Amino acid sequence: MTDAIVEGIPVPTEHWIGGERVASTSSFEDVSPIDERVIAEVARGGEAEVDAAVRAAREAFAVWGATEPKRRAEILHRMADGVEANVERLAAVETRDNGSLLRSMRRSVIPRVARNLRFFADELLRLGEERTFDGHRERIAWDPAGVAAVITPWNAPLMLASWRFAPALAAGNTVVLKPPEWAPLTASLFADIAREAGLPDGAFNVVQGIGEEAGAALVAHPGVDRVSFTGSVATGRLVAAAAGANLTPVSLELGGKSPLLVFADADLEAAVRQAVNQYDNAGQVCLAGTRLLVEASVADAFLERFLELARGLRQGDPRDESTDIGPLITREHLERVDGFVRRARDAGARAILGGGPNEELGGLYYRPTLFVDVPPEAEILREEVFGPVLTLQTFSDEDAAIALANATDYGLAATLYTGDPERAERVASRLVAGTVWVNCFFVRDLAAPFGGARNSGIGREGGTWSFDFHADVKTICIREG
Ligand code: NAD
Repeated sequence: MTDAIVEGIPVPTEHWIGGERVASTSSFEDVSPIDERVIAEVARGGEAEVDAAVRAAREAFAVWGATEPKRRAEILHRMADGVEANVERLAAVETRDNGSLLRSMRRSVIPRVARNLRFFADELLRLGEERTFDGHRERIAWDPAGVAAVITPWNAPLMLASWRFAPALAAGNTVVLKPPEWAPLTASLFADIAREAGLPDGAFNVVQGIGEEAGAALVAHPGVDRVSFTGSVATGRLVAAAAGANLTPVSLELGGKSPLLVFADADLEAAVRQAVNQYDNAGQVCLAGTRLLVEASVADAFLERFLELARGLRQGDPRDESTDIGPLITREHLERVDGFVRRARDAGARAILGGGPNEELGGLYYRPTLFVDVPPEAEILREEVFGPVLTLQTFSDEDAAIALANATDYGLAATLYTGDPERAERVASRLVAGTVWVNCFFVRDLAAPFGGARNSGIGREGGTWSFDFHADVKTICIREG
């Protein structure tokens, strides 16, 4: 199999196992959402490739797991240097592959890959805890656990993968990554960066393929010591069951149906702008606050300004600097999004904005959509759409706002806008969510725990939480004297 040429850049399409490109007998088509063209034929791995990658990772673990933390941190920093030196290439390939805005890729998403690597490299060197009690000295050690399987979605494939493989590698584990079949390419470019940074062969492996094939084989492999999964709730259930059969610790970062609450005392302009921001990445963001909950007394003013701003959003080719909203990832996904919109209408909700594919652009472009007058039992208020579809509901007081906000099976995030600091504390403490943002959105110190309540996930990552998951945490208790 030869390299694919994507945006003029050669991209390997084979697996990366034990420091070598490995072919498969079959392949799958990688289609760009920008124009639905096939941009690469990618190796389609299965049990054999997964087994080879886990073996290679196990062998490399003997070396990497025994490498001094300081040296591991140096190599992670060099990997970050490699990412920074290749931002333009990685951004161009990923935008072609998953349709995200090129300007976001360049400015924030790909640089965040480097930030993740640097953060966990530094965090590794801060680990260590010692205390004395009752004539004993107790030391906590974070021992490398072994082989980490990392499975990630397509909406920010390399960044989300790095959020998992950076702490895994920092902890001394070796990694087998199964990238998403809808946007598999930057993982291959990253493998080259990792090697050039001095990561030993076999410490980072990529098995390309379909979720139900390569993904399922990887999470069920008995040689895997950690399963780190980011994706949908439905797949998360399968992954947890497969990992459970081997008693392999699993970390799940899953979907969301997050609320964005706007109280009458809020800075309304800031709140509206943030609400319109929820169309970012065509709504394909796990954290998106897709349920707008607005205090009734300011709802008309909110809606008027929202529609004004949302109508000004430019939809089109994500490579164009002036584009605000790109395409959805696949035709199948567009039909799924459209199905939610049709059923919402059938249930009596009213699309006051958008409500269908963008006929002018054709392809996979879906109009930013806002539903009002949504019946309380409607599916659109409960299920994650993962597209540019928001709902607006109003509330009369704080208790009603909190009841609406918590009325889903998800609990990934919540955002609230208020000018009252006491209300902010009160409401934040009653919301069911892994992260609550007050008068802001998406900002996060990487040292803070990240994850979801309810069906939005199991476990927390970030800071030492990532090491707690990836390491075998050990207590050494020594009697003194
Ligand atoms: P998905 O669950 O369909 O796929 C995710 C990954 O799982 C892909 O790599 C896929 O190949 C693999 N997979 C599929 N079936 C598998 C199986 N049986 N065994 C093992 N692996 C399998 O999700 P998606 O459509 O790619 O991504 C969208 C979802 O991801 C949304 O629900 C979104 O909210 C969620 N997400 C969550 C976070 C978070 O941090 N919580 C971040 C981004 C996306």
